Amino acid sequence: KDEFIIKFIFFNGVIMINKKMYELGNKGSDIRELFEYGKKRKALVGNDNVFDFSLGNPNVSSPKEVNETLIKLLQEEDSTVLHGYTSAPGDINVRKKIASYLNDTYSCTVDGQLIYLTVGAAAALTISLNAIINEGDEVVVIAPYFPEYKVFIEKANGIIKVVNSLVPSFKPDLNKLSEAINENTKAIIINYPNNPTGVLLNEEEIKELCLLLKQKEKQYNNTIYLISDEPYRELIYSDNKYPFITNYYDNSIVCYSFSKSLSLPGERIGYVLVNPKASNSIDLYKAICGAGRSLGYVCAPALFQYMIPNCLGLTSDLNIYKTNREILYNSLKEYGYDVVMPEGAFYLFVKALGDDSYEFSNLAKSYDLLLVPSDSFGYSGYVRISYCVDTKQVLNSLRAFKRLIEDFKEKNNG
Ligand code: PLP
Repeated sequence: KDEFIIKFIFFNGVIMINKKMYELGNKGSDIRELFEYGKKRKALVGNDNVFDFSLGNPNVSSPKEVNETLIKLLQEEDSTVLHGYTSAPGDINVRKKIASYLNDTYSCTVDGQLIYLTVGAAAALTISLNAIINEGDEVVVIAPYFPEYKVFIEKANGIIKVVNSLVPSFKPDLNKLSEAINENTKAIIINYPNNPTGVLLNEEEIKELCLLLKQKEKQYNNTIYLISDEPYRELIYSDNKYPFITNYYDNSIVCYSFSKSLSLPGERIGYVLVNPKASNSIDLYKAICGAGRSLGYVCAPALFQYMIPNCLGLTSDLNIYKTNREILYNSLKEYGYDVVMPEGAFYLFVKALGDDSYEFSNLAKSYDLLLVPSDSFGYSGYVRISYCVDTKQVLNSLRAFKRLIEDFKEKNNG
C-alpha cells in the first residue's frame, strides 16, 4: 500500500507532497495507535474488559471553577470580545495576571510582556524551538523523552541529540550531558515531573544542571537555552515542589500547559514564558512572536484565555491520581515487576518482562492491558502506564497484571 502511495507522491517524477510530512502522518504515533486499538477492542469485548493505560488524557473532571468561569464569561461578557481575535501573543491583561501569579507563587520576576499564550505545551515547544534554531543547531533531550520533541526539533531544522538518564533514578546524567554539549548546542529540553517516568528533580539537582549549562555557555561563548517543558508542574504527590527555572538559569524558556493541571487537553491552552534575565530577552520574545506567526497562530483560543485568571493555581482532584499511583506501584512491586517510583505526573515506568518493550507491550495486549512501549520515548526495555484513569479500571486491571507476570515466569523458567 505504501509503495502504491509513494508512486503517487513521485508521479511523473514530480514530488507532489512533502515526503517528511507524509511519513509523519502515515506512521502516526505508537501511543495513538494503541489508543485506537483499545477503542476497537472495547467495542468487541466491552469497556470494562480492556485496561487502557495508553493516553495521558486526564479522566478526572476539571475543577468546578473552570466551568463556572466559562459560564459567567458567556453570560456576562460581550460576545464579540469573547469570540474575537485577541492580540497575537494573547490578551495582555491575562498575560499580566499569569506573571503576577507566578511572581507571587515562586518569588520570581517574570513579566507579562514576555509571555506568549499558545495552543497547549505542544505549540509552546514548537514555537520556542522555531524561534531559536538555525539550520544545524543541536538540541539535547534526555531519554526517555516525550516523542514529539524529535518531530518539533527536526521540523525546525535542528538536530536532536539524545542523552540517556541515569538508571535506576532516571535523573539527568550530568557526565553524559557534558559530553553531548558542544559548540553547536542551542538548547536542552527538560521535563519534570517527567513523562514517562514520573521523576521529579529537587532544587540541588536543578542547581547542578544549571551550573553545568553555565560552564558550557562560558566554554563555547554561546547561549544555551534551557527549555523547561512543564505540563505536569502541579502534579506532584510528595511534599516537594518543583523549583521555578527562571530563578536558577538566565537563558531559560518555560513551556507551560493547562492541559493536565486543569484537565483541559482538548481545549488547547498554554504559554511560552521568556525569562526577562535571558540575554536579548526582547529579541528572543520577538522571534517567538515571529515563530508563532509563521506557524499560523493568530492567537490562542480566546474564551480559554479569558478563563485563565480565575483558575490560576487550581488543579483537578489530584487525590485520584495519588490513589491510582499507590495502588499500581505497590501492587506491581508485590507481583515482582521492576517499577520506577514516580513523584509526579501520572505515569508509571515499568521494566518490560523479557527486555523487548514492543514484544512485552504485545504480550500485555493479549491480557487486554494497553501499555506503551518505551521505544516511543527513545528508550528501550520499558513500558509506560498512564494512570490518569478511573480507580475502578486500576483495581480491575490488577488481576491481569498478576496473571501476566506469573504466566511469563512460568513460561520462561519452566
Ligand atoms: N510535553 C509533555 C511532556 C507532554 O506529556 C505533553 C502531553 O502529553 C505535552 C508536552 C503536550 O501538551 P499539550 O496537550 O498541552 O500540548
